[in-house]
Amino acid sequence: MRKPLIAGNWKMIGTRATNQALLEAILDQRYLFKGVDVALFPPAVYLQQVQTALQGTELHWGTQNLSQFESGAYTGEISAAMCRDFGSKYVLMGHSERRCLYAELNLDQHFLDHIIAEKYEMALRFGLTPIVCIGESPEEHALGQTEEVVIRLLDTIIAHQGADSLQHAVLAYEPVWAIGTGKTATPEWAQEVHSVMRKRIASHNPEVARNVQILYGGSVKGNNAGPLFAKPDVDGGLIGGSSRDADDFVKICQAAR
Ligand code: PGA
Repeated sequence: MRKPLIAGNWKMIGTRATNQALLEAILDQRYLFKGVDVALFPPAVYLQQVQTALQGTELHWGTQNLSQFESGAYTGEISAAMCRDFGSKYVLMGHSERRCLYAELNLDQHFLDHIIAEKYEMALRFGLTPIVCIGESPEEHALGQTEEVVIRLLDTIIAHQGADSLQHAVLAYEPVWAIGTGKTATPEWAQEVHSVMRKRIASHNPEVARNVQILYGGSVKGNNAGPLFAKPDVDGGLIGGSSRDADDFVKICQAAR
């Protein structure tokens, strides 16, 4: 049985005060989601705040991105060692907002997949669990290229690090058209894509495919999470907007039980 995981991506939102209120509200209600792994991804400057609040509880945390390089002259970047230094268990990578909004956009998408594979390797080397985001753009969706897009990144990672490495990783299917738009994928659509991903991994290593957690992300709310998480290949969610609303986030965590 795969354990459900709910990852809360705070994006570039919050202040020390609002974070503290949110952390306390989540901690107060955590008895409601026993049995579900929960991890929070604050902006890196708040990592220590989150570590201080969550240390000693069963909740986890991590950064929203990391450098593919180990250390050195990379202004503005965060290394895997730094992420570890603050007690992180997980690290997000490949988020579409990185792909689409920053320099990462100007790169050829295949080349970008390789950079994500390098970040993945770095995370594993430092004992972090990478949560790799994979998803098609609205244009790719309209052209019916979903499968091709998700398989492309998956294959790159497998070619780079081997399918066995996925036993130490988490995948997150995040259709770009669903992120922050209020347009959630239907549970059937999510199931279909997750099953394509799992089958691809199974063609290399059936046991790893059975065990790897595949999250769904994109406009998950307390009122739509249940049917998504009820699908057999959906093992939880990567939550953006609703992860900043304690009550909705707790509802989502409960729905994963
Ligand atoms: P959303 O974001 O839940 O606000 O759509 C998901 C994400 O960015 O991971």
